[in-house]
Amino acid sequence: MNKPHPAGQLTLKKGREKPVLQRHPWIFSGAIAALAGDPAPGDLVDVLAAGGRRLGTAFYNPQSQIVGRLLTWDEEIPIDEAFWRRRLERAYEGRRRLALEPATDAYRLVYSEADGLPGLIVDHYAGFLVTQFLTAGMAARRDLIVELLAGMPLLNGARPAGIVERSDASVRQKEGLPETSGRLWGADPPSPIEIREHGLIFQVDLVAGHKTGFYLDQRENRAHFSRPALVAGGDVLNAFAYTGGFAVAAARGGAGPITNLDTSFPALELAEMNVQRNFDSRPADDYLAGNAFEIMRDFRDQGRQFDAIVLDPPKFVQSQRDLTRATRGYKDINWLALRLLRPGGILVTFSCSGLVSVDLFQKILFGAAVDAGREVQIMQALGQAADHPVLLTFPESAYLKGFLCRVW
Ligand code: SAH
Repeated sequence: MNKPHPAGQLTLKKGREKPVLQRHPWIFSGAIAALAGDPAPGDLVDVLAAGGRRLGTAFYNPQSQIVGRLLTWDEEIPIDEAFWRRRLERAYEGRRRLALEPATDAYRLVYSEADGLPGLIVDHYAGFLVTQFLTAGMAARRDLIVELLAGMPLLNGARPAGIVERSDASVRQKEGLPETSGRLWGADPPSPIEIREHGLIFQVDLVAGHKTGFYLDQRENRAHFSRPALVAGGDVLNAFAYTGGFAVAAARGGAGPITNLDTSFPALELAEMNVQRNFDSRPADDYLAGNAFEIMRDFRDQGRQFDAIVLDPPKFVQSQRDLTRATRGYKDINWLALRLLRPGGILVTFSCSGLVSVDLFQKILFGAAVDAGREVQIMQALGQAADHPVLLTFPESAYLKGFLCRVW
């Protein structure tokens, strides 16, 4: 493996070249007419149209539904060390232009297909890099990528202190790869590590935390929720709180008591630490371990009311099959939140399911509002932070959507 030149050729079925010509990077098994050569999973292959015209070069993996992942559509570019370095530098440069440092030192440097690096995630946390190699092609080039990352200056000019792997995401199974994690290079990160987001301090567990440790994609939405005009003095419900990202933001905005809900007790412990680390004195905040659906139903029965509610549930939709059930889940939780808000209250509601479009999410919210008998004004549409860019030719890179609403 790691050959710079294609080890085979994939020929597409007649009429299936259009998405490739439009630079969508995925080739599904159903679009393939023939394979020439004997490429191993993770090797490079040339992609040809039915007539034999060369369309580009792709990672090959017959164990995945996505058999080909295009890396380049240009003529005969060698996929060598210089190629990977250029792609990584281009990704870093995009984040440099966001001017996140020094107030924020945790951000995504490389976002997979959206950065022309299918299957590679690189997140930066206070000098340490956390990587995910989620495709056979990237997994096969792990050593080279780590060597390149170790040599590249971070956005603040420093060298990375260490590089760890968190390839323990379930999507690895779809590529026929075992889940794996651990230190890849340099020093072990402190556990937990302290990071800064818009000047707020968070303890992050890079070893056992969700994703690579923190929901970096919600950074800008947390900042919205720290506006005093939205939260100051109000009773706040932070459902699906994880390690308290939105709680710390609300506390910055001068929120009254914040009620945090999560099924994970360790996440709530970290949430409480994070709030206390940033604020000396707080109204009596609550950290309740349990199912948000059940707790919010109890709150409704008790007649409890809030001035602002955040709903940031996990991904309900893993595949098209789940869509109906998940739609109901989103509707239920939003209906409950609407029932718990005082007139004029603020609802900040999200879906991180890629298969739920913005349109569908708005329709779900509409259904919830009708059933709850509440009037809802969308004041702002929300999305993933700018270090998670959306590639126009790859709409799948947009997944996080949300609405900031006023509720009557
Ligand atoms: N808002 C957070 C991220 C939330 S991630 C932040 O900004 O950091 C989603 C969280 O929902 C996870 O912590 C998970 O443990 C929790 N969760 C999943 N199902 C749940 C349920 N039914 N009730 C309560 N919490 C749940």
